Amino acid sequence: SDLGNSFYLYKTIMDRLHENGVTLSYTKSKMTDERSVFLMFLGESKHGVSVVIPPRYIQRLLERSEDGVFYDVEVISRKIAERSDDSLGIDVFAQESKYYPLGIKLHTYTGYYIHYFVTNIWIGLLLGGIVSVVRVRYRQSKVSDATLESALQNALIDGEIEAYYQPIVNSQDRTIVGCESLVRWKSASQGMISPGIFIPLAEELGLVDDIADLVLASAIDMLTKNPELFEQRYISINISRSQILRKEFVYRILHDLKPQPHIARKLVFEITEEINFSTEERQILREHLEQISKIGLRVAIDDFGTGYSGLDFIRQYTFDVIKIDRVFVNSLGSDSTLIPLLQSMKGIANSFNMSVIVEGVEEERQVKILAELGFNHIQGFYYFKPMPKQALLTLLCQSPLNESHSKK
Ligand code: C2E
Ligand code: MG
Ligand code: MG
Repeated sequence: SDLGNSFYLYKTIMDRLHENGVTLSYTKSKMTDERSVFLMFLGESKHGVSVVIPPRYIQRLLERSEDGVFYDVEVISRKIAERSDDSLGIDVFAQESKYYPLGIKLHTYTGYYIHYFVTNIWIGLLLGGIVSVVRVRYRQSKVSDATLESALQNALIDGEIEAYYQPIVNSQDRTIVGCESLVRWKSASQGMISPGIFIPLAEELGLVDDIADLVLASAIDMLTKNPELFEQRYISINISRSQILRKEFVYRILHDLKPQPHIARKLVFEITEEINFSTEERQILREHLEQISKIGLRVAIDDFGTGYSGLDFIRQYTFDVIKIDRVFVNSLGSDSTLIPLLQSMKGIANSFNMSVIVEGVEEERQVKILAELGFNHIQGFYYFKPMPKQALLTLLCQSPLNESHSKK
């Protein structure tokens, strides 16, 4: 390269330069005749640019200033600064457009750390170290994002993503009244990944429809092949807000399920209550839910009580089911304020003619208290954890269908 012609560069420096486009070294050269900080980087035309700073200049500059002065030393538009937590830290600046190799800004603030750093530490090594650490970490974060992205894409292709099912139980007679589909990512490299992590990622990447397709297909397949097991049972499916607001998604559901009303009647769409729905979005939501209801699908509010607009949300549209979030169950028995809350939720459900499912029940005493309050439909680890499709089918084959209890 042109850099190679201007003066001799160590191979390690050249390698770093070609890898990163920039490198810092602390070495002696004919140009300066003393050890100096060399900053080298490749310009856009791949021509080399270099800056040579004998450290005594930096030192002199900083030593001259008095105590109570605070410095920012910037290396390639990255700031080495004193942090608020009083440790020496590195801030990576987002804007990389300007490449000023090294800058020092003075503020009136205690300059203790920088002063210490300049007078006591082999500056070239430190600067070089910091620059490479920053660069490596920056690159790694980019790489891991990209990896997660393609990993999710591949997971869909490779069949690593699978619908699990958690039974919902009537605590009075222990019959299984339905189940909720909960998607699982069994990553070959990472193990099980929670939907709480990859669903938001899928939304960002526009893959949430692919996941919904997979989940729906799994449920429809199960309903089609085992009609006798689902005569009295439903499958609940989580639909994210971004999907239910999109008319393409809703039309596709209508298109697929309108000709199969016996399937549609077995499906429940779970939608979380949202604080952030705009007036316009509420209107769209209402229209979409009405269209979906018309073909026999039921709609549930998920995580009821955790969004702030609970009451307003159910006023907008009559839901068929509310699912009470597990935060209302966790400390049931020890926290007496939960009882009146649950009672009022029960009252709301009754007056809107909605059935209720309580989520996250893990202990027998919770089941007992809930039964006393009139909550019988329970979803929780106390009865069952989410399980693969085949395990659910086996379980349903063994469980009697209680003809006497209502569909709700
Ligand atoms: P969710 O719809 O509220 O689902 C209930 C969550 O509570 C599930 O977590 C379930 O495994 C967990 N759970 C059930 N019983 C208990 C219990 O007794 N104790 C405790 N501690 N947890 C219990 P999971 O499977 O990790 O799913 C988390 C969330 O991810 C779901 O919350 C849902 O919002 C979302 N999700 C899951 N599958 C899908 C999907 O296919 N599509 C979309 N859009 N979201 C999904
Ligand atoms: Mg749910
Ligand atoms: Mg929930």
